[in-house]
Amino acid sequence: MIERPEKMTISDLKPGQSAVIKKVGGEGALRQHFLDMGVIPGVEVTLIKLAPMGDPMELRLHGYELTLRLADAEKIDVERIDAPSKPPAKKQRTKEAYHPGLGEMDKNGSRGAGTALPEGSLLTFALVGNQNSGKTTLFNQLTGARQHVGNFPGVTVDRKDGEIRGRSDTLITDLPGIYSMSPYSSEELVSRNFVLNEKPRAIINIVDATNIERNLYLTMQLLEMNIPVVVALNMMDEVTGNGGSIDINRMEAMLGVPVVAISAAKNEGVDELVRHAVHVAKYQEKPRRQDFCDSSDHGGAVHRCLHAVSHLIEDHAERVGIPVRFAASKLIEGDSLILNQLELDRNETELLEHIVVQLEKERGLDRSAAIADMRFSFIGKVCDECVIKPRESKEHLRSEKIDRILTGKYTAIPLFIAIMGVVFYLTFMVIGAWLQDLMATGIGWLTDAVDAALTAGHVNEAIHGLIIKGIFEGVGSVLSFLPIIVTMFFFLSLLEDSGYIARVAFVMDKLLRRIGLSGRSIVPMLIGFGCTVPAVMSTRTLPSERDRKMTILLTPFMSCTAKLPIYGFFANAFFPEISWLLMVLLYVLGIVTGILVALLFKRTLFSGEAVPFVMELPNYRMPSPRNVLQLLWEKARDFLQKAFSVILVATILVWFLQSFDFHLNLVQDSHSSILAAISGLLVPLFKPLGLGDWRIVTSLISGFMAKESVVSVLGVLFDAEGGVAAAISALSAASMLVFSLLYSPCVAAIASIKRELGRGWAAGVILWQCGIAWLAAFAVRLIGLLVGMG
Ligand code: GDP
Ligand code: MG
Repeated sequence: MIERPEKMTISDLKPGQSAVIKKVGGEGALRQHFLDMGVIPGVEVTLIKLAPMGDPMELRLHGYELTLRLADAEKIDVERIDAPSKPPAKKQRTKEAYHPGLGEMDKNGSRGAGTALPEGSLLTFALVGNQNSGKTTLFNQLTGARQHVGNFPGVTVDRKDGEIRGRSDTLITDLPGIYSMSPYSSEELVSRNFVLNEKPRAIINIVDATNIERNLYLTMQLLEMNIPVVVALNMMDEVTGNGGSIDINRMEAMLGVPVVAISAAKNEGVDELVRHAVHVAKYQEKPRRQDFCDSSDHGGAVHRCLHAVSHLIEDHAERVGIPVRFAASKLIEGDSLILNQLELDRNETELLEHIVVQLEKERGLDRSAAIADMRFSFIGKVCDECVIKPRESKEHLRSEKIDRILTGKYTAIPLFIAIMGVVFYLTFMVIGAWLQDLMATGIGWLTDAVDAALTAGHVNEAIHGLIIKGIFEGVGSVLSFLPIIVTMFFFLSLLEDSGYIARVAFVMDKLLRRIGLSGRSIVPMLIGFGCTVPAVMSTRTLPSERDRKMTILLTPFMSCTAKLPIYGFFANAFFPEISWLLMVLLYVLGIVTGILVALLFKRTLFSGEAVPFVMELPNYRMPSPRNVLQLLWEKARDFLQKAFSVILVATILVWFLQSFDFHLNLVQDSHSSILAAISGLLVPLFKPLGLGDWRIVTSLISGFMAKESVVSVLGVLFDAEGGVAAAISALSAASMLVFSLLYSPCVAAIASIKRELGRGWAAGVILWQCGIAWLAAFAVRLIGLLVGMG
């Protein structure tokens, strides 16, 4: 009997062991993603560690860290090796060399025959790069404050446009961070469509030089787009700081596009980058090279296949305006979107298939792996010739040390809880609260001053009421929460920018899988504590539709900062001694409800397969103060805009409706106002919750516009906190808190859910959240009555 040797897969490795990849299993987009991330036959991998709960694992390959679940690791066959091979020692360090300036590209070969754009044309740029390559940092350096944030048409992904400082003829668009131009996640599709359809004049490709092999993979695909490209080698400060260097001129010659070494964080080289970018855009200098396959590479099978397919589809690609070389490599990879767009006839489709099958046979790899391998072997050549790898970098060593604790077996979860605890404590009890007091005092002082002035001026009483009660107290009470909201975003952005959130995803993946999600869902969830709108947007990074839907539907259960004014208002009025405990309980209740709903979803609507968890773990980095400040300013601006639009209008409207009756006479007692009549219709629904007061109902309705306005409306309708305290019992206040926590998210959040998932889901969210909120609030009341409260 012949004994077959046991097949070995990555999941059989022990921490610290290395192996060479033999075969990559799996199929479809997922497998393409593996390949795009550099998991291809022949590559060495080392298992670094398993997550504290035993799954997923952290791998090192191509000099960077990647997460992988055990179940997926089983699909990748490997062969053990004793130790990762060391790169051959370089003979000499490259010396600082003169870098060709503008238009001097001819030195390294013939210049791309570009025709200059007419004077005065707008130079549009797309900023493309991997996640964590420093795109946001560079974008902020380039544009300063001159930028506007919007959405890509049809999708809710943040779209940031801005003009380069001092160059009013430029417009630069920050695309979502992507790893490849395969349509694996919606972000990748957005970026790809942007480049294909909006045809920017040039691409600024930002490359993390400390992780150059993986980053150049995207560059290779960008070069195929036949659009002028400038490569910005970012983080050069870290490379040189660790004794590495890169021969820029050589790299420029090999890639056929300008390469500029920069440090976005230190603002070094950025001016030179701008000069080159403007130059290639203006003179439309296309990449001089798109052809990276080599006829001597493994018998040239890939080379022949790529060229054959390029010729085969040339006319179709030109007709629909897709770059030929890009279309050819995507077709070979089996990209069905491109295949459909090209409208090949049957003969051509068959021919294509024959060519590709021949490739697979000659190369001994399947089609996607063959293309990925071709790209990585070219990158290998570039790196061999141009890059002197730094010694083990300080940053990486530091990251390893930090990770030993932050993702350590016994320390990871307690530390996560502790870190979140500290963040919430500092936000609510220390920094935020202190600033909030300051704000509240300031607003109070201003209100008194205006009040006094209005009284002195004998202003009409109705107008006086509107200004003081409607505007100052209503909007003012909301404004005083600005500091807490900004502080919260401050901490969230620190966690995100430093690279910690990726670790949280790694550590929590197994737990989140129990409720049917993946570790990546933790990011939107945490952002959800800030605001549901960006949380919903951030789900765009999730590669699976199913995970994305489920995450979107669950984020509203994470109590957002806009609900804080409500908690603060009722906690101070009814439970001043235990207000902090109450806050904690509410947050926990939100999370628990979310988990229960997730379990329900998992059993019913979303009973699909778990998607793989392939994610890069970047080095820890100090977040740049500039990025953080920029973000805080954006959040504060959003909030102020909201306060002075939606909330102001809602407050004035409520004031108006409660001041007049149907004959438009000023009412003495607001019980006979229009508002009382309208809200009165819903009162019976809220009676069982102990909230059968039309004023409470009104405030909840206005909360649908913006949660903050619940408090401002209560301020208008009741005289002061004492007013509410006299009108409802403590038990009713508890029901109110629970109801506010769980009921329908605000219009802005609903709108973003609608944009992501469509009308039906958005309506569903409103309905079931209100239903759940009602049931929970009712339960609180029942329990309260049973224990003799109320
Ligand atoms: P994005 O995900 O591509 O938008 O990357 P970010 O701009 O958020 O940058 C990721 C991290 O790298 C942040 O902590 C930055 O502070 C840091 N960073 C960006 N550029 C540089 C650089 O040139 N040098 C160094 N050392 N760090 C940088
Ligand atoms: Mg960013």
